[in-house]
Amino acid sequence: MEAVAMAAVPPGRDEWDRIKVRLRAELGEDVFSSWFARVELASVEADTVHLSVPTRFLKNWLQSRYRDRLLALFGESFGTVRQIEFSVRSAIRPGSVSRESAGEAQPTARTIPFPATRPAATGTRSIEDHRDDDVLAGSPLDHRYSFESFVEGRSNGLALAAAKRVADGRPGEPVSFNPLYIHASVGLGKTHLLQAVAHAAKAQGRRVLYLTAEHFMYRFVAALMAQSAIAFKEALRGIDLLLIDDMQFLQGRQVQQEFCHTLNALIDGARQVVVAADRPPADLETVDERVRSRLAGGLLVEVGAPDVDLRRRIVAHRVAQAKKADPRLEVSAAVIDWVAENVVTSGRDLDGAVNRLVAHNQLTGQQIGLEMAELALRDLLRTREPKKVKIEDIQRVVSKHFNVTKADLLSARRTRTVVRPRQIAMYLAKALTPRSLPEIGRRFGNRDHTTVLHAVRKIEEMANADRGFADEIEMLKRMLDA
Ligand code: ADP
Ligand code: MG
Repeated sequence: MEAVAMAAVPPGRDEWDRIKVRLRAELGEDVFSSWFARVELASVEADTVHLSVPTRFLKNWLQSRYRDRLLALFGESFGTVRQIEFSVRSAIRPGSVSRESAGEAQPTARTIPFPATRPAATGTRSIEDHRDDDVLAGSPLDHRYSFESFVEGRSNGLALAAAKRVADGRPGEPVSFNPLYIHASVGLGKTHLLQAVAHAAKAQGRRVLYLTAEHFMYRFVAALMAQSAIAFKEALRGIDLLLIDDMQFLQGRQVQQEFCHTLNALIDGARQVVVAADRPPADLETVDERVRSRLAGGLLVEVGAPDVDLRRRIVAHRVAQAKKADPRLEVSAAVIDWVAENVVTSGRDLDGAVNRLVAHNQLTGQQIGLEMAELALRDLLRTREPKKVKIEDIQRVVSKHFNVTKADLLSARRTRTVVRPRQIAMYLAKALTPRSLPEIGRRFGNRDHTTVLHAVRKIEEMANADRGFADEIEMLKRMLDA
């Protein structure tokens, strides 16, 4: 009896509070409150931490994006912790939850099994992965992001040529442009290009490190805490090629200082650095001026939006890939043309479009024809033909998604858990309905139109800064289109 009590780890609320303080400092208030404000510590067992969250989306999101980080943080407090388990707290109406988890939800993008558009979650790695011998493990690479699968067009030709040149460089040879800085808005192939460089250079035996800026920060902070920062820095400077993705997320004074040293040391040592971001260096507001100017000192390449010709070839390429997995798949040239002409935004949407068609075909057995394509992809075409969405629908979907009541959405409550969903709902009302700002304000508990405007801007800003958040908004839009 006593022995058991001794072995059990204490409940750990204090540690959890401290971990939250750290996360808030690392991630910034907006990101923290979007993902962690509603996470609760359920229990800590010998090797497992149980966290509970209000929605399935949040569970999946935290699992795929933050499990490693949480593991490391909990590992600091409880040396024995090897796993983080997330559970969804029972929703207001348990009936609706069990139906959803039984898999009867309509086949939206979320439930489609084929093919995943994201690299596999890294959540299964144990905390041991972060110990000293592994100071330089990079962010996960997706083997599908290769030069072979990258389709060239007018808008990305220069970036592709530069990326290939970098990938071909030999260690010790002078580098032609350093750093190479690729910028483009979301979904236009930055990550794909960076990872293609990483694969190609690795294949030649070069020491390559691909890290998202978020991961870089995390690794550095983890190394500091484990007192292995020196080893980390040394190791960083010993690589041939450093690729940093999503540079716009680099934050924090000490991290930037370290990044700046690393950058200088690598560039001065004729090691290649490649950086991708959603904006040019001059617009990286959170980034230190010295880092910005160093970044701007190499070759800057922008990837533009794909024209119809490139879109067509990307779709055709995707279809060919899907056909490898399922040889019976038939997609006519007419459907490919139609998708290329109508899905006009990004490579990601084109991917999504093809995945959707394939899934539709697999789930319903229906041939992929124009009619089916139009039906399956109608929400991707919203820019052309706005569908009538009602504000009540938005309020219903948003409150269910975030597990708050509609009364909360309309109330004057100012707690974060209610404020963000409310802002999202107002944003969606503006984006999906023809209602004016004052009208939307009235429908949300008689608020002023400036409040609505503020909400719209805030959500746009967050969506621009955080692809995950943009995905969540996009998913809500899709749910509303059903
Ligand atoms: P970013 O990092 O710029 O947001 P990604 O590299 O993640 O964009 O690209 C989004 C999706 O679109 C990926 O699946 C990628 O493979 C695909 N994609 C984008 N551009 C191209 C292209 N030129 N050829 C093939 N696939 C592309
Ligand atoms: Mg990217």
